[in-house]
Amino acid sequence: MSKALNHLCKTLKLSVNEIDYIEDKQFPLKVPQDFLEQITAGDLNDPLLKQVLPIKAEQAVSDGFSKDPVGDLLKNPSPALIHKYHGRVLLIASPKCDIHCRYCFRRHFPYQEQTNQRHWQQAIKAIAQDSSIHEVILSGGDPMSLNESILLGLIKDIEKIQHIKTLRIHSRTPIVVPSKAPQDALLDWAKHSRLNKVMVVHCNHKNELSDKTANLLEKYRKNGFQLLNQSVLLKDINDTSEILVALSHALFELGVLPYYLHQLDKVQGAQHFEVTDTKALELMKQIRQQLPGYLVPTLVREIAGQPNKTPL
Ligand code: SF4
Repeated sequence: MSKALNHLCKTLKLSVNEIDYIEDKQFPLKVPQDFLEQITAGDLNDPLLKQVLPIKAEQAVSDGFSKDPVGDLLKNPSPALIHKYHGRVLLIASPKCDIHCRYCFRRHFPYQEQTNQRHWQQAIKAIAQDSSIHEVILSGGDPMSLNESILLGLIKDIEKIQHIKTLRIHSRTPIVVPSKAPQDALLDWAKHSRLNKVMVVHCNHKNELSDKTANLLEKYRKNGFQLLNQSVLLKDINDTSEILVALSHALFELGVLPYYLHQLDKVQGAQHFEVTDTKALELMKQIRQQLPGYLVPTLVREIAGQPNKTPL
């Protein structure tokens, strides 16, 4: 039994024999302690546990599911840079995450080939030469899993490019491992920066929101970050209107506005998380009846080759 599985079973009082577990060497079980503490012990159906536990269903092969479902590798003008959308680019800042979400659309992405600091310099050069770009999105992996001073160095290089107006950070770190998220130096920079600052966190269920996360998000918000959330619609995890409504309210309590609800990207190994479009649309109808408009996320799908996310 792997060390990570042993620790998970021990902490959650589960027996390995109860779990339909598979060993996945390329994208192994990885759960940070903060997230583990949000899981209910002894409950195999816990909605957080299901997001991180590698199970045999991942080995199924289904039509339409592939290793690069959103076409990232097709839109790669220089290593570490993905230029799919008008006016903004995505810079892959870190090859790793502190958690492995089993539905991750980049679980097969060749990060090691795509990201290192030499590649960043090439990316920064390419951004500086294209004045049509006004927003840089730091993504990954998870950019906030970087050492704070390295992350800050990258951000300051971006800030020097005068046509860049907005820095956006996409991160699940503040939700799943708030105790390791960058704080002091990032907050100090944010207070004085000329850039618009947006942080898009990734939370799928209100049980993921701990007190540690609440405290951290408050600091980011008070220091100038606009906070948004994106979720992925996941079968048997958050596919009821009650769960989605509760999530929107819980996020708003923490100063975070719901932004996107993603239909699952059809990545190989994640078939068992898929919710049909019919059901997704019905859920949207139900939550619109229960929430003010500003708490209703936009239901979207990313389609390879399209210049924007496609609302359903
Ligand atoms: S945090 Fe995001 S990038 Fe990292 S494994 Fe989860 S979904 Fe994928």
